[in-house]
Amino acid sequence: MARRRARTKTVRILGQDWLLTPVASKNKAYENCCGMCEVKGAIIRINPHTSAACQGDTFLHEVLHALSFRLNLGLDERKTYAFASGLLSVLRDNRDLTMRVLNAKPIV
Ligand SMILES: [Zn+2]
Repeated sequence: MARRRARTKTVRILGQDWLLTPVASKNKAYENCCGMCEVKGAIIRINPHTSAACQGDTFLHEVLHALSFRLNLGLDERKTYAFASGLLSVLRDNRDLTMRVLNAKPIV
């Protein structure tokens, strides 16, 4: 039986491609981990055993960690969590405006 080859997913952050991959499920250290951002190697890991909504939140959280590193913002965990949750809430509560921003259409 032919196996489908998993597509490599990446996310482009400030001109750098970051590998987007699941957390290593066999590693006990990551058992309760929603995600992680590995600056060395440019890797963002997401726990695939969480809900889609949680994965979206985690994705944004890890992207903010990457941005904090690349832009030397020094965001701590609490601020990263707050920014990700707050921004995701605004994006979800304003889907039409979000799409306008993504498609570079006028807002007003
Ligand atoms: Zn974090």
